[in-house]
Amino acid sequence: MDQEMNYGSDYKYVPATTINSGRGEEVLPDIFYYTIQISNICLVGEQNTQDFVLVDAGMPDSADQIIAITAERFGTKSRPKAIILTHGHFDHVGALIELVRHWEVPVYAHKLEMPYLTGEKSYPEPDSTVEGGLMAKMAPFFPHEPINLGYYIHTLPEDGTVPHMPDFKWIHTPGHTPGHISLFREKDGTLIAGDAFVTVKQDSLTKVYLQTQEINGPPKYFTPDWIASRESVMKLEALKPEVAVTGHGIPMSGQQLAEGLEKLVKNFDNLAIPDHGKYVDRN
Ligand SMILES: [Zn+2]
Ligand SMILES: [Zn+2]
Repeated sequence: MDQEMNYGSDYKYVPATTINSGRGEEVLPDIFYYTIQISNICLVGEQNTQDFVLVDAGMPDSADQIIAITAERFGTKSRPKAIILTHGHFDHVGALIELVRHWEVPVYAHKLEMPYLTGEKSYPEPDSTVEGGLMAKMAPFFPHEPINLGYYIHTLPEDGTVPHMPDFKWIHTPGHTPGHISLFREKDGTLIAGDAFVTVKQDSLTKVYLQTQEINGPPKYFTPDWIASRESVMKLEALKPEVAVTGHGIPMSGQQLAEGLEKLVKNFDNLAIPDHGKYVDRN
């Protein structure tokens, strides 16, 4: 049945971590985020309900941890209705195949992300020449070959609705990847932003480790289209989110989030775009 599924041939455990690894927190009664090493997953649905969804699928080798944390929050035999992907980078699909096999649930992503989720196309190689810290220097060791999810992967509905997340809409926020999406709930301003922007300086090993809270553009070493990325951040800032869970870093809310996003939009070229790097020099 699932013989078609496989990870990219460069998939491996990546030994990068943070002080927040293995910790999770309820941001809202139905929004729970959990950090696996350096990246976040988000469980959307109130505790002990059977009506919940997993957003993103962690780092390579983390399936047991994700299954355990899901069981803890929703009960031992529980499984999400679906897995929604913000994008297909290795640190967001790391445990996906084991999870799909275990839960037998559909996975949804944007249609422009499909080539990277069906084994057709590799992401551009992470850019270690990018101006940035040690994390950027480690980037060449990050997997970038595509996962193949066979017939478990589905495209998100064109009308902006999100399967099993009735109050949320998906928003196309390309730049970091072509089919990157963010999820937004208008009634309370809840934003799940993936890597469209993040709440930690992901290029700095020290700041990542300490999870220092600050709004930043998408991880520099993994972002090939800065023009689209700027527009995506502007789109998200215009929504005036109240709370944001991002793919990396501790969630942010209120004034700190509003000011951070405003500053990022106003100074995007200085704050987000690297001074040099292979995806900048040719622009
Ligand atoms: Zn990413
Ligand atoms: Zn990421």
